Amino acid sequence: MDAQLEQITKSARGILETIPPHVILVAATKGRHIDEVEAVLKAGVTHVGHNYVQEAQPIIDALGPRATWHMIGHLQRNKAKKAVDLFDLIDTVDSLRLAKALDRHCASVGKAMQVLVEINCGREASKTGVMPEDLDGLVESLSKLKHIRVLGLMTMGPSFGDPEYARPYFYETREAFFRISNMGLPNVTMRYLSMGMSNSFQVAIEEGANIVRIGTKLFEPRV
Ligand SMILES: *Cc1c(COP(=O)(O)O)cnc(C)c1O
Repeated sequence: MDAQLEQITKSARGILETIPPHVILVAATKGRHIDEVEAVLKAGVTHVGHNYVQEAQPIIDALGPRATWHMIGHLQRNKAKKAVDLFDLIDTVDSLRLAKALDRHCASVGKAMQVLVEINCGREASKTGVMPEDLDGLVESLSKLKHIRVLGLMTMGPSFGDPEYARPYFYETREAFFRISNMGLPNVTMRYLSMGMSNSFQVAIEEGANIVRIGTKLFEPRV
């Protein structure tokens, strides 16, 4: 195994040792070669995230049973069918129209799709995700879809240089997580709170994240 892949396995082990045992590490693998994905699995990573359906397909086809596969990129409705076939979880549901497209395809193949609802906690025009004020209404609508299981929330959070600035947004997202949990909706089980990336995962965990999505820190050698 070459040095670069060894380094990736080492980085992954390091991060797994750093995070508390109840926190799931999702390796964010956009643009990564299948060998690189295998290197993180070798380290004991069990959840892998992809941003693009097309790019994920050959990798999931090859490594399928070895991991739980998350769609972490923005999903277009015309890719809903393919996404249902490929992924275990879709972490980026942010509209009823998208959820209905997923629900329709799930109905035809007899599957229930596990999803997270993506929230645009910083209300940024450049980001996807449902606006905080529309979150409860969306989750209520999703709870009526027979083949959709809402398992939590995901957020990117605004990206500042200093992760401390993201803290209030993570805090707000956690508040929303508990609020929805208390709504007692059918088909909604608030189990996962996915927040934090390479530069912010420590702060996100302090604010209650139990999934972190990490790419750069896994795959790019420290300089
Ligand atoms: C790329 C990506 C990440 C990982 O970001 P890093 O800063 O490279 O750790 C996390 N979440 C999503 C949705 C991403 O696209």
